[in-house]
Amino acid sequence: MVTLEVERLKELSFEIGPIRPPSEGGSSSLLIRVTRNCPWSLCKFCYGTPYNREKFQPRDVEEVKRDIDVAKEISEHIMALAKRLGGMYWVSKIINPNFLYGKSLSELDVEELKNFECMVNVYNWLRAGAKTAFLQDADSLILPTSKLVEVISHLKQTFPSLERITCYARAKSLVRKSVEELKELREAGLSRLHVGLESGDDEVLKYVNKGVTSQELIAAGKKAKETGFELSLYWMPGLGGKSMSRQHALNTAKVLSKINPDFVRTRRFIPRKGTPLYEEWKSGNFQLLSPHEELREIGTMVEGLKITGRLCFDHFINPAYKTVVGIVWLFKQDYDGYKLPEEKARILEIINNGLKIDESLYVRAEELSELPGL
Ligand code: SF4
Repeated sequence: MVTLEVERLKELSFEIGPIRPPSEGGSSSLLIRVTRNCPWSLCKFCYGTPYNREKFQPRDVEEVKRDIDVAKEISEHIMALAKRLGGMYWVSKIINPNFLYGKSLSELDVEELKNFECMVNVYNWLRAGAKTAFLQDADSLILPTSKLVEVISHLKQTFPSLERITCYARAKSLVRKSVEELKELREAGLSRLHVGLESGDDEVLKYVNKGVTSQELIAAGKKAKETGFELSLYWMPGLGGKSMSRQHALNTAKVLSKINPDFVRTRRFIPRKGTPLYEEWKSGNFQLLSPHEELREIGTMVEGLKITGRLCFDHFINPAYKTVVGIVWLFKQDYDGYKLPEEKARILEIINNGLKIDESLYVRAEELSELPGL
């Protein structure tokens, strides 16, 4: 029987997109791809490169529902194996490229890799309690509401254990949805939105071609909060370079304070190969902040930030310095970060201490820019 289960598992795959927020990785979210790539792909610092600049495509609803059904079948086979083998731990011995295909991970062909990734995603999700799902790719709210509701309803019916369903959304798509549509999505089960705010400063937003204004960001964020969504907003220290650093920090704090999101997630600006901003930096038309300048900018933003949510630094690219025992991150890296306003003084103290550490010890944005995949 075990052999039959394994052989069937090797036949099952569904489509998974390239990225998801780190916090969704932390909760081992089930990944369901409802669109492919980014419909905008023009932000100067990103340019759709996480999706290899491939063309945006909405996926057919029936196709997505079939993917959900396949994920269900994979989960059933994994659970059956766990029962027969005496626990999930033993299933992890089976979900191994050498056992399944007689090859190492790097030797798998495209289909085998796809099959393996699906098994790993479903296995990790089950082990984490099968509670969260993330709808890929960059802007799920661009889909017509009725289609998205159909997918979410099917997902909830198929997996009643789900407590949280989340997606990325562009502020532009969010602000275009009516209050009624957002409520409908919320009632269907979509519960958390991840939105790239990057900056609250209109000059910076225009410079990086974000395609939204600070007023639209505020309207989108407020709408999400008012209709009951949990909101994660991402900001990017360093995005205004040296020339716009102060206005970037001050206006980002202002916009975030007006929205009062549940989470503010910090993603330091790192020039990414293949993007226009990387080229501007290389040609000398954009000046990266030094590590201390970055810390001062974060400090200015934090001082102006009046929210009751959490400020997080949940990514390895955030400020870190080198010691003889390894890299030390200045801020804690967990997905819940620091509670505001209670821990504001603590964050400012960390920044002050960080400014006492010699700049030469910090991991610089220039170094991270050379990492493959960034
Ligand atoms: S909207 Fe998001 S994914 Fe698309 S280009 Fe901008 S930052 Fe990248």
